[in-house]
Amino acid sequence: MSPTPAAEVTRYGLFIDNQRTAPIEGEYLDVVDPATGRVWAQVPNASAKDVDTAVSAARRAFEDGDWPGYRAADRAKFLIRFGEAIADHADELAALQVRENGKLIREMAGQAKLMPEYLNYYAGLAQMPTGTTNPLHVKDMVSYTVREPIGVVAAITPWNSPLLLLLWKLGPALAAGNTVIAKPSEVTPVSAIRFAELAAEAGLPPGVFNVVTGLGSPSGTALTGHPGVDKIAFTGSTATGQAIASQAGKTLKRVSLELGGKSPNIVFDDADVSSAINGLIAGIFGASGQTCMAGSRILVQENSYDRVVAELAERADAIKVGDPHDPASEMGTVACRPQFDKVRHYMDLAKSEGARLVAGGTTAEVDGFPDGLFVRPTVFADVSNDMKIAREEVFGPIASVIPFRDEDDAVRIANDTEFGLAAGIWTQNVQRAHRVAGRLRAGTVWINNYRKTSYATPFGGYKQSGLGRENGPDSLREYTEEKSVWVDTGQGVKDPFNPRA
Ligand code: NAD
Repeated sequence: MSPTPAAEVTRYGLFIDNQRTAPIEGEYLDVVDPATGRVWAQVPNASAKDVDTAVSAARRAFEDGDWPGYRAADRAKFLIRFGEAIADHADELAALQVRENGKLIREMAGQAKLMPEYLNYYAGLAQMPTGTTNPLHVKDMVSYTVREPIGVVAAITPWNSPLLLLLWKLGPALAAGNTVIAKPSEVTPVSAIRFAELAAEAGLPPGVFNVVTGLGSPSGTALTGHPGVDKIAFTGSTATGQAIASQAGKTLKRVSLELGGKSPNIVFDDADVSSAINGLIAGIFGASGQTCMAGSRILVQENSYDRVVAELAERADAIKVGDPHDPASEMGTVACRPQFDKVRHYMDLAKSEGARLVAGGTTAEVDGFPDGLFVRPTVFADVSNDMKIAREEVFGPIASVIPFRDEDDAVRIANDTEFGLAAGIWTQNVQRAHRVAGRLRAGTVWINNYRKTSYATPFGGYKQSGLGRENGPDSLREYTEEKSVWVDTGQGVKDPFNPRA
């Protein structure tokens, strides 16, 4: 935390009521570029008072403002205009995120280009019929349901895909007529502020989308404990999700949680091995392994085991680790110093647990970036599923390869985890593919592919990987309350104590 920024450091405010707003208590956090190690921005570490200001703005916009009363068609038009603004600024938003988290420009640019399509989809959902009419057990009555916005939504997000994961909450929340306060990760706060500015320029009324920056505590906890917040939509670690759910329980806020994973990527002997290897590599080394859905446990059937381990190691060694802004780089940095230390800790731990290192296992040197947080893509073979490296989420580029005998053995190992976010199956046997998909306890199963997501498909976790779903045709359900309305269509209500009168 530094009170006075150097000349090349840009200082940002909170974004409340469509305006950059200085924090009440004046404390700022440094934002560090993980490739250079340099501080390039500062953002407020929002206090409980700042959060209160943001909640008041969002409540005002919800209760007294026009937004919830906008026609669905108008909310949809806004979402489409916001998408157009994002498209116009896609390069800027992609580069900002790379500067924040060191992910590859190709991946961040791809996400920025896709975001308008997400908004088109949510705009469509905003205009879909939502209620039901319900056959009743009594005569002369009609009952129907309506879905209404919940109110003020706190969207708390991590650093790995800063804007896309925010959009997964913001889009459906706004489509349904809620107002939103985003609390981005302290590692990636600037892109969220820029996002909110673009939303304001695209015509969103004041108070509808606000951003408070800061640490989990005080800023995040002030939001999750605030009585003016009706719903928390969270993506982050399972430990934080558990803390948020128990805090939210005190005021029974609505909660949806997208949490961690330790996903199995299962290769059967009858797989197309070269395609599988591509999927394994993408599954664990895409985004430097910093994705919730990383295929971090690679389960390989005995007869293919040696070949898969050898090819994985060779491919991991060949990955070009480099400047994340260079489109030729294949893996960028780890996002921040604590994450870098965590990855190195797990490299050492796996070695001490007896896993066989076949690729990587160290930090990486990149010319021109002496202070960059680079690590080498790492593969451990002969991992057993009870080792910590197979049980705990690393959130980094470390693959653990585990052998299995047959289908039952694969399913047993795959499901033997507290997580249940995703899984991959590689086989050319169509019966086996669907049979195993049915037996895996995970919110997403990819057959002969990995790490695909879409606005059109629900995403979320079984077990301790989460609560609720994002995206897909029911996206707006997580942001609405259901109301039943009863209408008497008969001759009026009779005296309940003397019905013949
Ligand atoms: P994190 O849990 O440390 O932080 C996430 C957000 O919560 C940040 O904005 C942080 O400031 C805030 N926060 C921290 N403590 C808080 C508290 N007590 N109250 C309120 N807010 C608090 O996670 P991270 O390190 O930023 O991200 C990595 C984690 O996110 C991984 O576990 C990963 O699996 C998970 N993740 C899940 C998904 C998914 O869709 N399931 C997607 C991406 C990342």
